[in-house]
Amino acid sequence: MPEKLKTLADFTLSHMHLNCSHCGRRGRYDVARLIEAHGAEMPIRDFIDTIGQSCHRWTHPADHQRCGLGCDALIYMFMPKPAADGYAEQMAQ
Ligand SMILES: [Zn+2]
Repeated sequence: MPEKLKTLADFTLSHMHLNCSHCGRRGRYDVARLIEAHGAEMPIRDFIDTIGQSCHRWTHPADHQRCGLGCDALIYMFMPKPAADGYAEQMAQ
């Protein structure tokens, strides 16, 4: 069974913070507004993709030069617990 894509409706916080450590893009998006604009069934991945279109590294990924655009909250929200713990440890180092 294919994994169901997480949609805007699955996002449990009121705002989505996106940032890219490589190109410095950052944004804060009101999830209720996103749902109004794109529909609750829009996959979060697709939304991030839409924002990423304006980053050269996103549209032309190269080795060691990928866009890091993403939402930190997603990692905690949807990852299995042990993996999320590992991530937290990584960040603490
Ligand atoms: Zn970027």
